[in-house]
Amino acid sequence: MASPSAGPAELGFVEAAPSWRLRSEQFPSKVGGRPAWLSAAGLPGPPELACPLCGRPMAFLLQVYAPLPGRADAFHRCLFLFCCRTPPCCCGLRVFRNQLPRRNDFYSYEPPSEDPPSETGESVYLQLKSGAHLCRVCGCSGPKRCSRCHKAHYCSKEHQSLDWRLGHKQACAQTDNLGNTVPDHNFLFPEFEIVIETEDEIMPEVVERDNESEIIGGMGEAHEEDLESMAKHESKEDKIFQKFKTKISLEPEQILRYGRGIAPLWISGKNIPQEKDIPDCPCGAKRLFEFQVMPQLLNYLKADRLGRSIDWGVLAVFTCAESCELGIGYAEEFVWKQDITDAA
Ligand SMILES: [Zn+2]
Ligand SMILES: [Zn+2]
Ligand SMILES: [Zn+2]
Ligand SMILES: [Zn+2]
Repeated sequence: MASPSAGPAELGFVEAAPSWRLRSEQFPSKVGGRPAWLSAAGLPGPPELACPLCGRPMAFLLQVYAPLPGRADAFHRCLFLFCCRTPPCCCGLRVFRNQLPRRNDFYSYEPPSEDPPSETGESVYLQLKSGAHLCRVCGCSGPKRCSRCHKAHYCSKEHQSLDWRLGHKQACAQTDNLGNTVPDHNFLFPEFEIVIETEDEIMPEVVERDNESEIIGGMGEAHEEDLESMAKHESKEDKIFQKFKTKISLEPEQILRYGRGIAPLWISGKNIPQEKDIPDCPCGAKRLFEFQVMPQLLNYLKADRLGRSIDWGVLAVFTCAESCELGIGYAEEFVWKQDITDAA
């Protein structure tokens, strides 16, 4: 059966970065913290960002800046992945796509400066250029506000009460510098930049061949029929998991594999989606694989703070093959989770 090529993939690694580099106007790819929204209008609202499984607000997991060369309407393009992190849930997941032309209402036509801004403040942005307010806890659209001070905005009752307990109860009366007094709600994931490198395509082939000759070399005595029956016993699951391990062994720190239209690297033979499992975009176009999040990312998310709420083997994101026009809004795309427990 013909399948797309397995590469080359772009690999993503996490790196510490100063907070200014992770702001919207720098068009970052990043993990954790608050989303660096692209378009400041048409943000997904609380209903869209509710966990599809338990209904509670999801946390921002990561975003990938992925413009489409040759597409004027996607000169800037970004994918935003959210996941539920409330134990005992569930790892509910949702992903959104947003894209903008080079000339737009929010950003300069010219690329952003690579120098740090002169102001050094680390204050959290809780209002967008469009005027929209963001939730103080999660950094997502915050249509509700505190009825006392009218200055603190929230996505949900749940986040309002979290902020109230962790300091807004006191701060509510002194609202002069509310933006500088955002407490640690223990809700956001730790923040990192994602840096991208192209995977070396030659090495995995060499390693695979080495493994093969090792196996054959070790069986000098075996008859041909024996070898054949052994090969039959090697399950498809083992092969897929072996391929996964071999492929990542060269860059074991990779947290992301990006490649629009390439084949995903599954961790197991179980629970691989069929074509019919990937819903078409509402525009009518098929969805293509675009990137996957690797289990290595879990090591950076302070799992001890998470309880046992989140876990995955592979999160594979599929997006509209046409990357259809959206105006200024955010379009929901599709994410498939393959559990690590599915692995052999
Ligand atoms: Zn949930
Ligand atoms: Zn919130
Ligand atoms: Zn208040
Ligand atoms: Zn579409």
